[in-house]
Order: sequence, then structure tokens, then C-alpha cells
Amino acid sequence: MSSLSNIEPLTTRYDPATGILSGGRLIERRLADLRGCFHDLAAFERTLEQGNPLVYSVTAVEPADGEGDLHYGLGVIQPGAVGIEYFLTKGHLHTWRDAAEVYIGITGEGVMLLEDEATGEARMLGLRPHDVVYVPGHTAHRTVNTGQEPLVYLGVCPARAGHDYGTMQRRNFSHVVIKSDVGPQLVRRP
Ligand code: MN
Repeated sequence: MSSLSNIEPLTTRYDPATGILSGGRLIERRLADLRGCFHDLAAFERTLEQGNPLVYSVTAVEPADGEGDLHYGLGVIQPGAVGIEYFLTKGHLHTWRDAAEVYIGITGEGVMLLEDEATGEARMLGLRPHDVVYVPGHTAHRTVNTGQEPLVYLGVCPARAGHDYGTMQRRNFSHVVIKSDVGPQLVRRP
């Protein structure tokens, strides 16, 4: 059981400019790790030939793993695109499908792409500073940087949630977020 006397760390501190959070476990994803996420395969290979840039990082803070505990993570997505599709995270469902999550925008301009696992219904929701997004259970979620600077955000979910990347890797998100004259647009995957 977690309690005040046995939880570490009780406090962490992030730098909103760099997205660096002290005291967490850093996970980095480069472009080559995101094979299959972008719809334009030729653009993906072209972009990869120019290098293998860092696309995003997540610093995970997991103070305890009990029934009532919480995990949180600071995500930083770099600005960029593959063809007309913005840099994005892999996206996942929670292994414990009932687990919801709250995302809080800190700096930069982005959106979240949500997809109901059962119905396939897709939504694009803004993730800018002061936006708080509730991601219900049974909902695949992916974060997209639609701006010119790093997108920094915080996500908080039950410790038991777990990450299921495989399901969305196999079926892929039904919609993509692309650049257009009127800003980011949600369209069905071509
Ligand atoms: Mn999640």
C-alpha cells in the first residue's frame, strides 16, 4: 500500500521551455521508431533518408503501482512533418481498457486524436496551454504537434492502466491529422 512515508518522489519539477522533468524515466522515440504511423510511406522514407530525428520524448514518473495509485508523464513532441502529416506519438490503448487519462497542455500548439476502439468514432481535440482533455477508457489516443515549437503536455492516468501499442499498430488510427490552408484538419486515412 502506498502512503506518505513510502512514496518517492512526492515532487518533481519540469522546465516548460525544454520539457525536461527531473526524477523520471526518459523514453525517446525517433522517426525510425514510428514506421507505419504515417500514411505517406514515400514521404516517410524520404524524411528518414535525411536523418533520423528525435520526434518525441516522454518522461514517466511512476511513484507506486498499487490499485489506487497514479502515474504521470511529461510529453514533448518536436515540430515537424512527414509529407503533410504532422509529427505525432505512436498512440495507444490502455491494457486495462477501463482506465481513463487526463492530458494538460503546457506549451506549444497541438491536438489529440481520439478513437473509440469499439465504434471507430474519431475526434480531434485541441491541446494548447490551459487545455485539459479527458480521454475516456476504451479510447485510443495519439498526440500531434501542429505548431512551430515543441509541444509540451502532461498526462495522468491510473498506475494500473498499462500501454497497449500493438492493437493500434496492427489496425492503425482510422483518421490522420494533416496540414491545410485552414489549419490542422482531421481526415479519413487515405
Ligand atoms: Mn495513455
